[in-house]
Amino acid sequence: MQWLPGKKGERKLTMAVLLVVLLGIFTAVAAFRQNLPKQPDPVVAESPAAVLPLSGWRIVVDPGHGGYDGGARARDSGVWEKEINLAVARQVEKALTQRGAAVFMTRTKDEDLCTDARPAGKTMKREDMENRVALAVEAKADMVLSIHMNEYRDRSQSGPQVFYRQGCDSGRLLAGAMQETLIAQLSPQKRRAALAGDYFILQLDVPSVLIECGFISNAAEEKLLLSKDYQEKLGQAVAQGVESYAALSQGIK
Ligand SMILES: [Zn+2]
Repeated sequence: MQWLPGKKGERKLTMAVLLVVLLGIFTAVAAFRQNLPKQPDPVVAESPAAVLPLSGWRIVVDPGHGGYDGGARARDSGVWEKEINLAVARQVEKALTQRGAAVFMTRTKDEDLCTDARPAGKTMKREDMENRVALAVEAKADMVLSIHMNEYRDRSQSGPQVFYRQGCDSGRLLAGAMQETLIAQLSPQKRRAALAGDYFILQLDVPSVLIECGFISNAAEEKLLLSKDYQEKLGQAVAQGVESYAALSQGIK
């Protein structure tokens, strides 16, 4: 069909073009409004202490071994456990402090806690362990975290594992929360379960755990545990585990 222009036809065409243009403008405005950034929620003034999840917590971090006592030895690198424990414990300290906790370290350098006043018959290991516990009592600790590295002759063994004292309910709860968090945050190849263990450092009646961060007898895990990145990740994961326990135990502390 041939369209014959006329006055009436021209008007119809103008109206149609106008409609299309208006529709276009309307659509564009609607799309623009949708893309406008949302107004931020009003900031509620709070004291900084109130927003930190672990403020008010007094936590002892114990880098296992030290000084005369090297602990286990990494199979490939030959690095002593005491050194890795301290490096990881420092990261735990940092991550806990960021979350508002007051952190007390049993040692901050390569040393044991033995004295010249050790009575005859008491072993250095015994005195060292007693002094770590005494330090936790003196600090009025709400929690004790002892940091260690595991080893086993079968080099295929790997994965972090958390130990608590049999009969200590809060310790068991902390160990469970910690184990779960370490698995979630570190995705280890081997997923272990928290276990009861007979360790001297766990004798206080506050939630206490001994964390075997991984196996320095396993080639791949040794590499990880020696890297600064993984140590930092571990520190954050342990602090996250404490936070998870703190949320679970609200009001129990
Ligand atoms: Zn150890």
